[in-house]
Formats: sequence, structure tokens, C-alpha cells
Amino acid sequence: MKSVVLLGPPGAGKGTQATGIAEKYHILHISTGDIFRANVKEGTPLGIKAKEYMDKGLLVPDELVCDLVEDRVTKDDCKNGYLLDGFPRTVFQAEHFDAFLKKNGQSLSCVVDIEVDEKILLPRMIGRRVCRSCGKPYHVDTMPPKKEGVCDVCGGEVYQRADDCEETVLNRFKVYKDQTSPLIEYYKKSGVLGEINGAQDVDKVFNDICALLGE
Ligand code: ADP
Ligand code: ADP
Ligand code: ZN
Repeated sequence: MKSVVLLGPPGAGKGTQATGIAEKYHILHISTGDIFRANVKEGTPLGIKAKEYMDKGLLVPDELVCDLVEDRVTKDDCKNGYLLDGFPRTVFQAEHFDAFLKKNGQSLSCVVDIEVDEKILLPRMIGRRVCRSCGKPYHVDTMPPKKEGVCDVCGGEVYQRADDCEETVLNRFKVYKDQTSPLIEYYKKSGVLGEINGAQDVDKVFNDICALLGE
């Protein structure tokens, strides 16, 4: 059972790395951002509440997040393990999740902290495009899909997220610094943190993460 957390600021490359990691280790990729966006699209009560916060670049309240993830990792398809992308994002979420794991006699295998300087992150975020169906990230300049506007993997529509405009992105960097970056110390203390230089090529970052996760 491998339970892995991908940590890092918006644009660090969590979504980009997640698919390959999940495939290699036969674990399930769980992106809370993707789950919320799916709920927004479906117009569920959760989606309606979450959208208010997402549009402003703020975090969705903890009480809407914790149970959702804890229920999800309990499902059969997570038996072999899971890769959390975008969760936890606050110390409250991390503590809540640790208590949940402990209750089940489990603990996290590894927290992969992908570090990238903000100067590099902004152009990544402004140029990011994502697939509306499978969530795969692209970049207009550096990683465009083969056919403009169409996902290479699933044929879905490649679009720009409303919260990837400069103003909201800058807000999300601040939210990351204030509310999420304390998790680096939190996980360092529990001895599960591994740090990765996310400013390297996608393949190099992938290899470094695999070296950290082992086998
Ligand atoms: P996150 O999920 O951490 O917010 P993404 O994986 O969506 O980040 O990546 C953000 C943007 O940066 C995307 O446009 C992606 O194509 C690009 N990107 C990801 N990793 C790299 C990298 N190592 N080098 C250059 N660009 C990258
Ligand atoms: P990014 O790719 O930039 O890291 P995500 O797709 O992970 O962004 O998240 C998009 C938005 O969804 C966040 O700005 C936040 O509003 C909400 N969100 C996702 N995960 C969480 C979480 N664990 N806690 C609170 N809000 C979350
Ligand atoms: Zn797709």
C-alpha cells in the first residue's frame, strides 16, 4: 500500500507528474481540484458551494474537503494505494487526515514537495490550459496539445480555467504561502517529506520523484 501526497504551489507540476506516477506505482490519482470542478460542472450542492471560493482563488472550507477525501481513499480502487494531488492544503486537513489514517492503522508513505520559484510559476500558470474531460495539463507555449484545443489523450476540449487569470493566480500564490506552505514543516517533523526541484524538465522531475518513492 503506497499512500503519497504531492505538495507544492499552484503550477509546481503536480497534475503534470501525477498521471505517470500513478501508472508506474499502480495507485489511484486523486485530485481534489478535479473533483470540485466536476461537481461545479454537474451543479451539485457541493459544486455550488465550492465555486464561490474557487473563483476567488480561495480554499474551499476544510469541512467540505476532509470527509470527501477520506471517503474516497476508502474505496476499493485505492486498495493498492493512492496519490493525493492538491490535498491536504491546510494544517487542519493534514491533522484530520493523519487522525483518520491512524484510526485505520495506516500512515503516509511519502510527501513529495515540489519546489519552484514564483518567478517561474507565473508564466506557467498564465499559459496553462487543461482538458475539460480528463484534467490533463498543457501549456500554450511549452506543451501545447498536438491539435489546438483538443486533448491528446482523450479528445476532450482543452480550455483555460477561469481561475488561471493573473489576478486570481497571484491570490492563490498568497493563499499557498499562508495556508499550505506550513505543511512542509509539519511533514518534515513526521519524517515523511522529500523535496524535489520542480524547475527542471518534466522528465527529470519525474525521475527524481521515482527515486524518492523507490522500487
Ligand atoms: P499544478 O498541478 O501543480 O498546479 P500543473 O501540473 O498543472 O501544476 O502545471 C502547471 C503548468 O506548468 C502547466 O501548463 C504545465 O504544462 C507546466 N509545467 C508542469 N511541469 C513543468 C516543468 N517541469 N517545466 C515546465 N513547465 C511545466
Ligand atoms: P492547482 O492546480 O493550481 O494546484 P487545484 O486544481 O488543485 O489548483 O485547485 C483548484 C481550487 O480548488 C483551489 O484554488 C481551491 O479553491 C480548491 N481546492 C482544491 N483542493 C483543495 C483543498 N484540499 N482544500 C481546499 N480547497 C481546495
Ligand atoms: Zn483529456
